[in-house]
Amino acid sequence: MKEVVFRKAEYDYAVLKPSVFEMIDSICGSSIRKSMKVLIKPNMLLPANPEAAVISHPLVVKAAAEYILEKGASVQISDSPAVGLFDKILKEGGYNKVFKGLDVEFKAFKTSVKVDIGEPFGFIDISKDAMEADFIINVAKLKSHAQMFLTLGVKNIFGCIVGMKKPEWHLRSGINREMFASLIVRIYKAVNPQATIVDGILGMEGQGPGKGGTPRYIGRLIGGKCAFSVDISICRMLGIDPDILPTNKAAKDINLTEYDINITGDFKEVSGFVFPDQDRLVFGPKFMQKSLRRHFIQRPFADNSLCRLCGECWKYCPAGSIAHDKKKLYFDYEKCIRCYCCIEVCPEGALRAAETLPGKIIRKMLIS
Ligand code: SF4
Ligand code: SF4
Repeated sequence: MKEVVFRKAEYDYAVLKPSVFEMIDSICGSSIRKSMKVLIKPNMLLPANPEAAVISHPLVVKAAAEYILEKGASVQISDSPAVGLFDKILKEGGYNKVFKGLDVEFKAFKTSVKVDIGEPFGFIDISKDAMEADFIINVAKLKSHAQMFLTLGVKNIFGCIVGMKKPEWHLRSGINREMFASLIVRIYKAVNPQATIVDGILGMEGQGPGKGGTPRYIGRLIGGKCAFSVDISICRMLGIDPDILPTNKAAKDINLTEYDINITGDFKEVSGFVFPDQDRLVFGPKFMQKSLRRHFIQRPFADNSLCRLCGECWKYCPAGSIAHDKKKLYFDYEKCIRCYCCIEVCPEGALRAAETLPGKIIRKMLIS
């Protein structure tokens, strides 16, 4: 039976540090040895103040790093951010300040190695540092996610895909959410972190995982050896069927999940968590599905009063479906694959996914 532990926690380091130490100790402490190089993989999506709940809080990462250093091992902290320089995230995210004087290496993932993750994907490029680390602690953030519903432990490992290879995979998975979930699950399996801690102290609800989401206090750290079990347990805490999460479902389809989980510690159901609006991507008679999808599923929209025309969204868009003039953005919804990466990377929180009116009407007619 898999074990998952919940701990009440706050971003008060005097309280947080012993909680993180205790958690890592119970999950994998005896396996961390002197002379090991331990990689910590936080969620460093984009430059943001920790209070925005977009990134793993630096104090949680610091406590994990201090635990490893006390074991005599060395620490590398790495991610491949969607937007902005890694250094900018360290500064704006408070990492530079919090880690002052601690002997750790911060390094953006840059180089990849080919790894066979199995059919239908075959060999794909995954961060060399992640594949060669002696030990990995995955420090994820609890956030809503417009495309994948939630981003928790398993999804965080998608950050081991380097730079622009990420949008490339979005494009290759196209509109198929299940295919993308299956890709993430196989990447997680290949990277195989030894421990996962999810920072759910200040989580994010609504239109996450970028700045369009809303911080939501939950006050919990959740950890375990197996991120699938951690994610399933978090779904239970949030009061939803774990199979709603596409990564849980994809893992179940290839027998990677166990639903019989021994949950210990401070588990408490959270009520009223706001999940992102999500359309079904397949509805209607089979011969109409493609056309219905193209015209009626929720689309990215820009709030022009917030948009600064910074260019991050159109540079990142895997389908090349965002154009602009000097005043505003234009979306090509024929080309758009509804990956919602643009929403994720917008530094201003100016983008939202919203269902079209005809989509709402048609869906109601076809479902009822
Ligand atoms: S929508 Fe956001 S990411 Fe796109 S140009 Fe405007 S501010 Fe930049
Ligand atoms: S416009 Fe946004 S949702 Fe559509 S393909 Fe580009 S990044 Fe993805």
